[in-house]
Amino acid sequence: MTAGRTPSKRILIAGLFHETHTFLTDPTPCSAFRFLHGDDLLSVAGDASPLGGTLEFALQHHWQVLPGVWGMAVPGGMVQDDVWAWYWEELRKRIDEHLRSGIDGIYLVLHGAMVCESLTDVEGELLRQLRAIPELAGLPIYGVLDLHANVSAAMIDLSDCLVAYRENPHADARVAAIRSARMLDERLENGPRLKQQLRQVAIVWPPTGTASSTDPMKSLLQRAREIEATDPAIRCINIIPGFAFADTPDTGLSISVIGTAEAESLTKVLDELEAMAWELAPLGVPSDLPLDDTLSRWLSSRPPGLTVIAEPSDNIGGGAPGDGTGLLRGLIRHEIENAAVCLNDPAAVAKLAEHSIGERVTLALGGRGSDLDDGPLELAYELLGLYDGRFELEDKQSHLASVAGDRFDMGRCAVVRYHGITILLTSERTPPMDLGQWRCVGLAPESFALIGVKAAVAHRRAYDLIAACNLTVATPGPCSSDLTTFPYQRLRRPVYPLDRVTRNR
Ligand SMILES: [Zn+2]
Repeated sequence: MTAGRTPSKRILIAGLFHETHTFLTDPTPCSAFRFLHGDDLLSVAGDASPLGGTLEFALQHHWQVLPGVWGMAVPGGMVQDDVWAWYWEELRKRIDEHLRSGIDGIYLVLHGAMVCESLTDVEGELLRQLRAIPELAGLPIYGVLDLHANVSAAMIDLSDCLVAYRENPHADARVAAIRSARMLDERLENGPRLKQQLRQVAIVWPPTGTASSTDPMKSLLQRAREIEATDPAIRCINIIPGFAFADTPDTGLSISVIGTAEAESLTKVLDELEAMAWELAPLGVPSDLPLDDTLSRWLSSRPPGLTVIAEPSDNIGGGAPGDGTGLLRGLIRHEIENAAVCLNDPAAVAKLAEHSIGERVTLALGGRGSDLDDGPLELAYELLGLYDGRFELEDKQSHLASVAGDRFDMGRCAVVRYHGITILLTSERTPPMDLGQWRCVGLAPESFALIGVKAAVAHRRAYDLIAACNLTVATPGPCSSDLTTFPYQRLRRPVYPLDRVTRNR
């Protein structure tokens, strides 16, 4: 670049964003994705998302944004191969068009834990394909990753700088995206070439062990910030616990360090943080209470008021099907009275709609969304009512409101009863974040002695208003904190806490 001339900043912006839970039965098809390209992609500038933040930064810093293709779907099962095939074909077409006038750099908005049927490392493959285009082989490639990315060697070797979120819940996704965009801008302004080094650590923590406000993440993130603050040659340290429910060779904790320092200094940083991760590792393995013990103890103490039992293994907000039967089976086994649960089962609702209120109908409920479940629970249930399932949110500032607006549609619903247990059946997965869900079907949630919710933490804002007691139990399900319940086949072994690991450093 000649001194005095404004540097050319023709930046291709693209991305692919999915957290793939490979143990779910239902795959994620192309139709589950929202794709943006051309002017639609540019129109996101300024919104609260990482892409919106990057585009806003680009405008402020006079980048000429070359829109690629950006695709996103909510967390779910294995992504079908045609999603990747379609995505790459579309992106390739746009790259060819942009290459006519030249490209100076690439910025990618990624999740980092996307898995397709025949690709365990979709992000690595994207980078491989980009680098295989001769004109892009030597260009700076920067980008942003979710804190739950499963980072591969290819992702680091084939990119210049990938910056991960530092907060969980992810309040800083947009900030992280802008941090990386700023580093790309410096490079375009003739800044130094950055080096990246990755350390995959033989540790896998369940999502419930990866909150940034508690250890192990809290201390690791804190130490990373201290190192960044004291060594100007270290530009960014990423502590990335990964997404345990994606069965891939890259799943688990990774630490990456980005800077201008010598390779040896980068390695030293990784050594220190890896040692610290091992010391703190047991704190990332929280255990939920055993179901039968918990219910027995609850029955003997019978606390006054409502007890809310959370079942993180079937956390709907985390991609789970919401039809697990574990807790319901427990309630039946212990003959609990005046309890309520909600299950997503559109087929059961359709069958019940053919019957009259008050009829006893033999049905196989739930248990289809995950192979880990004991399967559908066939019993004779009494039909109490049928409803349209639409409700107005009681809490319009909740997380559910930020997704759905003022109203939520659970699809057609039925309420059935089996002995002392009332079961709300929905046709659409409904994260339990608003009590309107119960009231719209004529049920007063505070009138029960016990309610089961398919969530980990996000339900607390609504239920804490009526709960006298909160419990969290372990049930078999796709979002269980107990990773020993998952039939891993591709995970790199040995790995803590599933195996005895001898540390090699
Ligand atoms: Zn995440």
